[in-house]
Amino acid sequence: MNRATFLKGLAAALAAPSVLIGCQNGQSAPGSVAASDTLQVAPAPPDARVFSEGIQADTMHVHPAVETVGESRRSADEWRELVGNDAYRILFEAGTEPRYSSPLLEESRRGTFICAACHLPLFPSSTKYESGTGWPSFWAPLDGRLGTQRDTSAGMVRTEYHCARCGGHQGHVFQDGPDPTGLRYCNNGLALAFAPEDESLPELR
Ligand SMILES: [Zn+2]
Repeated sequence: MNRATFLKGLAAALAAPSVLIGCQNGQSAPGSVAASDTLQVAPAPPDARVFSEGIQADTMHVHPAVETVGESRRSADEWRELVGNDAYRILFEAGTEPRYSSPLLEESRRGTFICAACHLPLFPSSTKYESGTGWPSFWAPLDGRLGTQRDTSAGMVRTEYHCARCGGHQGHVFQDGPDPTGLRYCNNGLALAFAPEDESLPELR
């Protein structure tokens, strides 16, 4: 990155409220904008579906595995009706919720985190961890549940990820997570719902 790009990114980061920066480490200094840029040049998450030692996320299902991801395409009005305005802004307008705003930060039961829009299971509770960022964080999704794309908004270069079934935006993935993947899936709580182990998963929609 050249200096002009860095300064532009830094200025954008400093000018933007934290809700727009999104999914950056809350303890980081402003200079971390440059660090995050460097991090995001790395391979996209498909490589992360197979961990070190060949463990796949599908082996960590708490609920019975959903066999097919399928596809769910609805109109904007339909999704807004189903998920409400706040979640709609995150899922379908690439919004970011304020840090420390999600009740799911405190969720520590065994279960499955599912897409708030279409209910596709995305993360097993076993890969959730406390990242200290103020957003629900995971070190791996269930296999094949997320799509990714390069996101250059907010003066940063990040890897955006979204539900593979409905396309709903979930968050961004960074390479500063814990073992065994070293990845941090920084998720909006509003884009998720939680199904505890002793309750069945809601129907896909
Ligand atoms: Zn979905």
